[in-house]
Amino acid sequence: MIIPVRGFLGLEDYNDNSQKVILETPKECPQCKENLWKHGSFKRTAKDLKGNKGVISIQRLICSACSLTISCLFDFLAPFKQYVIEDILQYVVIYGQEKTTYRDIAWGEQDGSNTDAEASLSRAFCAVAQVCQISGELAQQAQQACLEAGVDLMTVEQSRCPNSELAHSVEKAKRLDQLSYLINLTNRYCRDVLSKCFWYRQKIFSGYLASEKLAWLSAPQSLKQALF
Ligand SMILES: [Zn+2]
Repeated sequence: MIIPVRGFLGLEDYNDNSQKVILETPKECPQCKENLWKHGSFKRTAKDLKGNKGVISIQRLICSACSLTISCLFDFLAPFKQYVIEDILQYVVIYGQEKTTYRDIAWGEQDGSNTDAEASLSRAFCAVAQVCQISGELAQQAQQACLEAGVDLMTVEQSRCPNSELAHSVEKAKRLDQLSYLINLTNRYCRDVLSKCFWYRQKIFSGYLASEKLAWLSAPQSLKQALF
């Protein structure tokens, strides 16, 4: 089982401060409520589009009663991905709100790793496609959060995603519209950048975990061929 743990703002913060921070891990087994024990650690690599790289130490835990093992993944990392969640989000938020193309978001100025154009394009496409697969559920959760925070949902715009008319299926168009609505809801619910970023982080993290198959999606051949 993978669970998210807080501790760092992002990869840069991890690289600068990982020696100084003592990780707070859960004490109780999510399955049987018995005690969890430390159970070694493993390393995984992470990157961001600013060009930062890091080797992250992931703490493992084991339950003393049912032997469930848990990996404590920092919530700035995307499960099953090398790139951090903020970078995935960057693609998704732009595509959900502005009239653009995958090519433009992939090769925009924010992407510092333009050396591999095909990989950038594929990453942008997959980021949007994956979040679209869970955008309906995330929009529902955002609606709920808004209701609890007293936001009047009638005032949140239900506009269409400017890119949904180019979608290859009605289903994808619907999910892009849900993505656009999700972004509008989140903008109303979280007023400052940091809380917005944490909210998305948490939701996308759990969305990825709930749909493990999303991790293995690849960009369609037509998109790759369009490069040459
Ligand atoms: Zn247990």
